[in-house]
Amino acid sequence: MNPVAVITGTSSGLGLHTAVLLAQNAFTVYATMRDVSKKGALLSAAEDAGVSVQVVPLDVTDAVSIQAAVDGIIAEGGQIDVWINNAGAGFAKHPEWATEEEMHWVTDVNYFGVVRCIRAVLPHMRERKAGRVLNVTSVGGLVGQPFNALYCAAKFAVEGYTEALATLLPEHFGVHVTCVEPGGIATEFAASATVATFGTAGLPDDEYAPIFQQYLAGFQRRAGTSGRNDAYQTPEEVAAVLLQVVQSEDPPVRVRTSQWGERLCRYKTAADPDGTRQRADVIERFLHERL
Ligand code: NAP
Repeated sequence: MNPVAVITGTSSGLGLHTAVLLAQNAFTVYATMRDVSKKGALLSAAEDAGVSVQVVPLDVTDAVSIQAAVDGIIAEGGQIDVWINNAGAGFAKHPEWATEEEMHWVTDVNYFGVVRCIRAVLPHMRERKAGRVLNVTSVGGLVGQPFNALYCAAKFAVEGYTEALATLLPEHFGVHVTCVEPGGIATEFAASATVATFGTAGLPDDEYAPIFQQYLAGFQRRAGTSGRNDAYQTPEEVAAVLLQVVQSEDPPVRVRTSQWGERLCRYKTAADPDGTRQRADVIERFLHERL
């Protein structure tokens, strides 16, 4: 029986390409999306690749839809071996510009969505004493960036959540958890982040405005480098890293997906690039004898 993989946010970008790549690598793929009327792009990419995927509705902000997806997939597929929390939304806006509603939304989609999905699938994986959870965070989950405070904080939260689970689940329950930390990816993300950023009323013309223009210029410079260096990767390149983690004998706690990302995060990661030394130290101090 082929292993079963579930991916959130597969209507476009990284999620779509990961669904196709895993299906090409002998996984039974349940590709979830919040609006299944958007399944056309995924199904035609799968058809072009000569594979099939099952499309299932799942909105990461809705615990009921998550539980229904988990129950339905286990009933049909028999088990869930791999769960990839990929769904997310970009948001580049200074916190003083953000509304109360926006602050909650960016945290809900990027952080609580991950918490809800893991909570729903973990009992099943724990019972089987096997499973892999991959959380797509970002270099922004390790390194704070201007005008990204709210998005980075949500991704930092996923990093902390993953780190904490990784001290317990692999050793005691056979469930591995990993953060995959891309730099830029050439997807719809930038466009949707910009829509979320500018909203309908635009941005205030204040002291932050000229600095924000500088930030946007830098963003465009990096986005324009695709093909010349790896500041912006293709979704296929990042999906290949996800596949490597899924197939790894001993998955890391965290992994960057490009040399650009590795350079950006080096002050945080140089001593322990994949997070496994830190994990061993924490386990020793909190669950064994060492102070
Ligand atoms: P994308 O093309 O915009 O894809 C994001 C996916 O998340 C879409 O399928 C979107 O569905 C889905 N989504 C949004 N809200 C959702 C919800 N409430 N429930 C379920 N799905 C929801 O962007 P991407 O670049 O592939 O992003 C994938 C992941 O990579 C995200 O976690 C993102 O933070 C991370 N990342 C991206 C970049 C980058 O530069 N692109 C860099 C680092 C990390 P809809 O079509 O319905 O909106």
